Amino acid sequence: MRHPIRIAVLLAVILLAVTAVGPVRGADEIVVTRAAEDLYFLTGVVGNVAFLITDEGVLVVDSGTKPSHGDAILEEIAKRTDKPVRYLIFTHYHMDHVIGAQQFPEETTVIAHKNFSYNQKEFNGPNLEIMIEETYPKRISEAEAKLEALDGAGEEELAAAAGAVEKAKTGLAEAKEITLVYPDKTYDDAMTITLGGHEIRLIYPGASHTSGNTLVHFVDLKAVHMGDMLFYKRHPYIDWKAGSNTENWIASLERVSDWDVEVVIPGHGELTDKSGLAWKIGYLSDLRAEVGKAVKDGKSLEETKESVKMEKYAEMPWAYMLDAGVEAVYNELTGVER
Ligand SMILES: [Zn+2]
Repeated sequence: MRHPIRIAVLLAVILLAVTAVGPVRGADEIVVTRAAEDLYFLTGVVGNVAFLITDEGVLVVDSGTKPSHGDAILEEIAKRTDKPVRYLIFTHYHMDHVIGAQQFPEETTVIAHKNFSYNQKEFNGPNLEIMIEETYPKRISEAEAKLEALDGAGEEELAAAAGAVEKAKTGLAEAKEITLVYPDKTYDDAMTITLGGHEIRLIYPGASHTSGNTLVHFVDLKAVHMGDMLFYKRHPYIDWKAGSNTENWIASLERVSDWDVEVVIPGHGELTDKSGLAWKIGYLSDLRAEVGKAVKDGKSLEETKESVKMEKYAEMPWAYMLDAGVEAVYNELTGVER
């Protein structure tokens, strides 16, 4: 079972790398926009964050990919209110949603679904160890070897190679600072929080993206934070080892489509509305259809990975996630045991 963990580590490291310096300039730039009244949408920490400001305090959904993201989120809140952060909700355990939490004040109540802690312990714990023991040290020595081999190269090339060494070292230092935060409170099917006259419903959609996702429904604001139930207009990570189920995932998205909701906050991608849910239902349905056809044709997992093209989505970012997605659906359709 080392293989799926490595995919998750790869993903975590890629995400950390993207935010640390980035193939995209400005990827680490924090941008805050208003989603509805006093509900804010924050991007630039990989997993999208939302926070609701009320006169009784603040409720935050997710906390970014590294400890410094936690500080950045708290700074953005402090620019807008001096009220305390009362609640932090985790939509699920993936590292790009939870790692800023250690910077939050002691008095913040952290809430997640009851399956969150199992997933975090089982997967984030080993992921973190591999990042610290293997991935970053390897990356550092590779970058250093590359720098040494550049003897006599131009200034620009040398600077880029030196930058890569620095970036890998920073990544390792940051990974070593990480403390996994566990929820103070968990719930089973649903939970209601009332804060400053607002009603916030935490809803468990069942096994879907993972076995422990939470949908955060801001009832009177007609808004919902989907967490990674919605990767909007990009290939999703489907987490087989942590209990994914794409059939129920689609059914959950259909249920949310029936809610009285106008603003849909995705875990990744731009702010959207119910059309974003429809897009995602389409993506998952297409993926299930393509994998289902391969299974019906008697193809092996490797052959299925070869044959599934998802051509309609060829222009979408994060295509490197597709293999893991195909494997998750293949396992689901063929009844592989976890
Ligand atoms: Zn996720």
